[in-house]
Amino acid sequence: MSNRSPHIAILATGTELLSGEINDTNTRQVAELLAGHGLVVRESVCVADREDDITRTLDRLAAENRIVIITGGLGPTEDDLTARAAAKACGRPLILNDEALEQIRARFRQIGRTMHPGNEKQALLPHKVKVLANQNGTAPGFRLRLHEADLYFLPGVPSEMKAMVASAVIPEVIQQFPDLQPSQERRLQVFALSEPRVAELLSKADLPQKVETGFGVTFPFVIIKLRATGEEADEQLDLAELRVRQSLGDFIVANHNETFAGNVGRLLRIKEKRVALAESCTGGLLSKLLTDPPGASAYLERTVVSYANSAKHQALGVPLDLIETYGAVSKECAMAMATGIRTKAGTEIGLAITGIAGPDGGTTEKPVGTVFIALVGPGFEHARRYHFSGDRERVRTFAAHMALDWLRRYLGRLPFPEEDRSP
Ligand code: ATP
Ligand code: MG
Repeated sequence: MSNRSPHIAILATGTELLSGEINDTNTRQVAELLAGHGLVVRESVCVADREDDITRTLDRLAAENRIVIITGGLGPTEDDLTARAAAKACGRPLILNDEALEQIRARFRQIGRTMHPGNEKQALLPHKVKVLANQNGTAPGFRLRLHEADLYFLPGVPSEMKAMVASAVIPEVIQQFPDLQPSQERRLQVFALSEPRVAELLSKADLPQKVETGFGVTFPFVIIKLRATGEEADEQLDLAELRVRQSLGDFIVANHNETFAGNVGRLLRIKEKRVALAESCTGGLLSKLLTDPPGASAYLERTVVSYANSAKHQALGVPLDLIETYGAVSKECAMAMATGIRTKAGTEIGLAITGIAGPDGGTTEKPVGTVFIALVGPGFEHARRYHFSGDRERVRTFAAHMALDWLRRYLGRLPFPEEDRSP
């Protein structure tokens, strides 16, 4: 990674960030924007709306970093304490800043509203700061220097904050640090291999040394992150991606520019195939995935969510005695569902899922997580049993993605692996 980046810290303020009410998305967004310019965040802190805590944290972060980016608490209400805490931290008085006041007034004029006197409070800033324009809201930001650090104070509202990082923070910082080396990243999504297995396969992949590798899990995928810095970053990443693809082959279902469902949709379109779905325990989730990309009517004929046995019989033509003999959660039933929907819809492909998502309904023979998937095409039949682990949500998510993967494998004439692993 670039070691030319100055030390940077992010401070997110807001009691609601610590009470579990909302997620701190600001920190992630700031870090992402900075990373695109080779600026590496060294520390991130979150504090509640308590003046002393904010003051103390500002002082420490300013002492230990070159740049500190603070979000939140610039509004007009009682719990907006950041400007006061900033004044305390740098030992300056709070004064009514004319430039800030004019910006707030201009903003109200622009949106055609009369300014509430309370909004004047947003122009009460520590003495001698640089005011930062906020194009999308009323609270101006400001910059001040404390110890050896530049502190950028931005509003908490994500869209306002984000625009100001791009317009007011990054241009100043990159001007001060012209030797930054932006790093580039590629992400590959892996499905149905566990994280340790992915790591094991990649350890033998002979990746270029200059490429940094990282792993993450965004259920149901394992994400491989490849990062490189400098002028040859593109070529290094090309080579790394090639090696990763050679090692993991058809378990890679998308890269950072794509989605898994989008890729399957594209394959269906290119191959001019149409599919019909019969879903039981996934309740339409597979259909949801397949219709996420726009234009899905080109390849999805219909979906039947057949929850009750009577629906499996009436809508799909599954014989009731088959269900009686083998059960609704069985290989035989899955196959009959896939064949049934294919016949009713007149499509080339019929794909079916039936299973026990839980938390109830499991037996010793068929515990919760037991799922059968079946795919039928011309001269092609495949059905098998899975046992997915986790709660209802995870079982359903994994089952729907597994069925989507079956489509991908069928269309690409790829083998159907015996093993199946969630991350
Ligand atoms: P306002 O003028 O709206 O009061 P502000 O600058 O005082 O703006 P906050 O009051 O801290 O900012 O936050 C405003 C809103 O922005 C919050 O209610 C919250 O929804 C959102 N927000 C604040 N901080 C974050 C964060 N770190 N991540 C995501 N959302 C945030
Ligand atoms: Mg506020």
